[in-house]
Amino acid sequence: MICVNCFHAKTKVANSRPHKKSAGTWRRRQCLNPSCGKTFTTYEKPALDDSISIHYGPRKSPESSAPFSLSKLTLSIAASFSHDAVARQLHSLSLAETVEQLLISQVRTPSADDIAATTHHVLKRFDELAALQYAAGHGLVEITRNRRGRPSIR
Ligand SMILES: [Zn+2]
Repeated sequence: MICVNCFHAKTKVANSRPHKKSAGTWRRRQCLNPSCGKTFTTYEKPALDDSISIHYGPRKSPESSAPFSLSKLTLSIAASFSHDAVARQLHSLSLAETVEQLLISQVRTPSADDIAATTHHVLKRFDELAALQYAAGHGLVEITRNRRGRPSIR
């Protein structure tokens, strides 16, 4: 890994310890450039298998199917925060990471439905309205309008 301070090509691991509650490892690294010597921390964690094909968009469009990608999951979560631009910017990535780590710890080979259900679950704990927008966008609920034009959820 390169140095975060001077971009020197070599750093060494000075210390490492496994995370107690999840499948991750903290490492203390030190830059090997004698005029820098900066120490910094990295966190290594498993990534979800990118061979799994996932629907990110509306269920009916086949072109929205693609290999799992944390950035795409982040974008699909961000799309559920049209009502809260601050939360969208601050929390979309960490919510996507939470979904990814939950899937890794709970499901051996997650399907597109598992990912949608887990994302909905995580969003629901965080923001009901975002969860509802996500659910509507992923066919988990159907929003129809009654005769007076009010939305109703099935
Ligand atoms: Zn350095």
